[in-house]
Amino acid sequence: MRSFWKNAWFLVIAVVLPIIAYAAYQLSTLSEDEENISMIYQNQLDAILFSVNQYSDDIVKGWINTMEESMESDTNVDSLISYNLFQFQPAVFQIYIRELDKEIILTSAEADTSFTTDFYQQQLPDPASDQFEQLRNYAENGFQKILSSQFNEGDRSYLLLSFIMLSPNNTVTSRMGAIILDPELFIRETLSTKFQTVAQDKFVVSAYRRDNTDPVYSTADSVNSESIAVTNNFWLLPNYYLAIGTPGKPVQDIIRERTVTNLGILLTLIAFLGIAAFLILRNVRKEMRLAQKKADFVSNVSHELRTPLALISMFAETLEMDRVPTEEKKKEYYQIMQKESGRLTGIVNKILTFSQMDNGKKQFRHDKIDLNEIVAEVVSNYEFHLRTKGFSHVLSLSEEPLPIEGDKEAIAEVLINLLDNAIKYSTDTKEITVRTVKGNEKAVMTVQDKGIGIPKGDQAQVFEKFFRVSVGDLAQSKGTGLGLSLVKQIIDEHKGDVRLESEPGKGSIFMILFPLLKQ
Ligand code: ADP
Repeated sequence: MRSFWKNAWFLVIAVVLPIIAYAAYQLSTLSEDEENISMIYQNQLDAILFSVNQYSDDIVKGWINTMEESMESDTNVDSLISYNLFQFQPAVFQIYIRELDKEIILTSAEADTSFTTDFYQQQLPDPASDQFEQLRNYAENGFQKILSSQFNEGDRSYLLLSFIMLSPNNTVTSRMGAIILDPELFIRETLSTKFQTVAQDKFVVSAYRRDNTDPVYSTADSVNSESIAVTNNFWLLPNYYLAIGTPGKPVQDIIRERTVTNLGILLTLIAFLGIAAFLILRNVRKEMRLAQKKADFVSNVSHELRTPLALISMFAETLEMDRVPTEEKKKEYYQIMQKESGRLTGIVNKILTFSQMDNGKKQFRHDKIDLNEIVAEVVSNYEFHLRTKGFSHVLSLSEEPLPIEGDKEAIAEVLINLLDNAIKYSTDTKEITVRTVKGNEKAVMTVQDKGIGIPKGDQAQVFEKFFRVSVGDLAQSKGTGLGLSLVKQIIDEHKGDVRLESEPGKGSIFMILFPLLKQ
């Protein structure tokens, strides 16, 4: 058993521990992984929203460009701007350009309100102001900053974008430009195509006004606020923000679900591993026990063979030397030699039958036989043996015949083994009862003794090969541990059943049940 524990420890240290350590590591890093994936995903969504902002910037820069080019061209500024901006850009409401000595105001035909030069004077930075100076500085350094502010007129919101205008070769001019537009129209009419291209059917991209939970525009028909993963400011529209998420479940939920699934798989694997380790250990333990039992078996068998061999050789020697005084004695010695060689044959036959059966090589006959006949024959052959050993016996056969299908020799062997054991394991009360009865579709045979009995804990094991009860005097009595295992195998081959009732000190009953053949 010591090597069993060595094996068990080896399994624990080499296989179970590393896997548990790995699983623990996985468990501890799962939430970290979840955060990492979540972060990478959020960065991606951020980039998508960035591209929407970039796009709206490009659009407005395009308008400014149109204004700048129109101012430099000889053609009529009004018609150029009206054509390029108002006709194709429904969100653009009014254009304002201020030069050193003149001001231009162009209003879209669609506009229902108009703002006067006074309004622009008030809103736009004065050429002498620091703010104007700052814009100029930016522009001179190659960055055309757009100031953006939102205001309400009546119940409508407007966006005022103002900037310093550049010449076509990108030099700063003294012109200040402004565009008034409807921010929501801008989102819905101008930016919506961009929303759709970035969203495809993988995401939902929406724009919200800060004071409203219903989106101004969304690529999906309805938006679940929980599915929004990332929001971002609208660079040009201070009162609005952008939001992006997944169409169905929130991304966090999807990631969490994956994590939980992974966790479940991991735990199931660990559970399987535990079961596998347990089964392996159990098998190893069983194998080790069997190995131990085999070793015992070899020593038992050697012991069993040595006694008759020693007796035979001793008597043969005595006879050879002519040291036997009377003919009667000689006859007795011959008898002993014959009996002992019979015992040797018995043991060798038992081992051979066992080995044949263990290898599945033993062929059984399937004859129609009467159990009563076999039992009567075996017991009558045994009568002399029983009497000489000092046993009294009772044989009680069922009145009706007990037809079964099977191998007569094998069934006789079963009974012989049971009788041998009954003799071997009886000490004070030497009584043996052999009975056959007709049960419910069963032919039943019982062998009862009043011997030493078998402890409860060992009863299940006595049918295992090589098993011998190893307590008290029993260990002294001779045996191979094969008898009952042979019995069990033969009965299994006959689709029968074997039961054992036994109480230490009181005796044992072995009951064999065969399927009864229909008459
Ligand atoms: P063995 O050659 O040791 O008799 P068996 O397989 O026939 O091997 O029996 C296995 C063990 O079961 C025996 O060693 C013995 O301890 C116990 N046993 C079998 N039959 C009896 C019985 N009739 N009474 C008490 N113990 C028994």
